Amino acid sequence: MKLSGFKTPLKAARLVIFTAGLVGLLWVPAMADQWSVFDTKYLVIRYQSLEDLEEFDRRIEFEESAGVSGFFTGSNTGENTEGDRLKKKLDALFEKVQLILDMRKPIKITVNLYPSAEALHEAYFQIYKKPGKLRAWYIYEYNTIYMNVADLKAGMLAHECAHAIVDNFLSVRPPRASSEILARYVDSALYKEVKTY
Ligand SMILES: [Zn+2]
Repeated sequence: MKLSGFKTPLKAARLVIFTAGLVGLLWVPAMADQWSVFDTKYLVIRYQSLEDLEEFDRRIEFEESAGVSGFFTGSNTGENTEGDRLKKKLDALFEKVQLILDMRKPIKITVNLYPSAEALHEAYFQIYKKPGKLRAWYIYEYNTIYMNVADLKAGMLAHECAHAIVDNFLSVRPPRASSEILARYVDSALYKEVKTY
């Protein structure tokens, strides 16, 4: 429709304003990636929808008592809300990883939860400026774990937490191969009794 078809400039102006409004509306989906934050003692979980956080919760199978007896120091034992329960579960998992590694030091790590493999791969591309198909990874410089909520399990989260703990615990970051050996061990030992040395 041509603007010249309107009889008055006012109508043309209205159309312009209306069109601009439409364009504005159309921009909203393109501006997605709105992050919400779920904060625990050790983790800052960033997620894009409540469904993602619920899916994350479902996929992280971990019992507070899985070999962490006496170590988990939560003072209130009552589970008040779903959020409280999830926090306890995540912090218990994190403390189990610290216990396996025998590396306990105050630390807080960000976890970016992406809704799909595509979104995760896009994040990888934005960071590294090249394609990458990793399922999950940790970047020391950003102190952030990157994961796809549609493809994760407790062992994967424990593995990436182990990378974060190892990299931050030692005064010199260990070589990648050493760090990977430790992280894989944590992954495999997550549900086992912890050996003490
Ligand atoms: Zn690894």
